[in-house]
Amino acid sequence: MSGAEELLRSKGLRVTRPRLAVLDVLAAGGHLEVDEITRRVRERLDSVSTQAVYDVLGALSRAGLSRRIEPAGSPARFEARAGDNHHHVVCRGCGDIADIDCAVGSAPCLDPNTAHGFQVDEAEVTFWGLCPACQTRRRADV
Ligand SMILES: [Zn+2]
Ligand SMILES: [Zn+2]
Ligand SMILES: [Zn+2]
Repeated sequence: MSGAEELLRSKGLRVTRPRLAVLDVLAAGGHLEVDEITRRVRERLDSVSTQAVYDVLGALSRAGLSRRIEPAGSPARFEARAGDNHHHVVCRGCGDIADIDCAVGSAPCLDPNTAHGFQVDEAEVTFWGLCPACQTRRRADV
C-alpha cells in the first residue's frame, strides 16, 4: 500500500485512482492552480474531467489533506501542506507564492483586541512583496 493510499484510508476516504493521482501531484509541492493539477493528473490517468479534479480537491480539502488558498487577484490554488496554519508571501510582480511558517503554528495566530462577540478561529495572513527574480528585473529596468 502506498503512502497516499494510507493517507486516504486514515481519513476514511475511499481510495480511487483520481484521488491518488491528485495527491501525487500535490505531493510534488507548490501552490497549483486547478488547470495545472488537471494537466498533470492527465499525464497519469487517461481521462479525467476538470469537474472530477474539483470534486477530488474538495474531498481532500475537507479531509485536511490539501489546502485551498486564494490570494486577491489570483485563481484558487491548492497545496498538500495543510493543517499547520502556515502563511504565504505573494509576489506583486509575477504572482509567485512562497510559504512562510507561522510563528504560533495554530489558528488564529493573531489576537484581535476586540472581536465584537465573534468567536474567531482563523486570521488570514498574506504577505505581499516582490520576489527575488522580480527585484532583479526591476533593477535592470531602470
Ligand atoms: Zn515575482
Ligand atoms: Zn503554502
Ligand atoms: Zn501565524
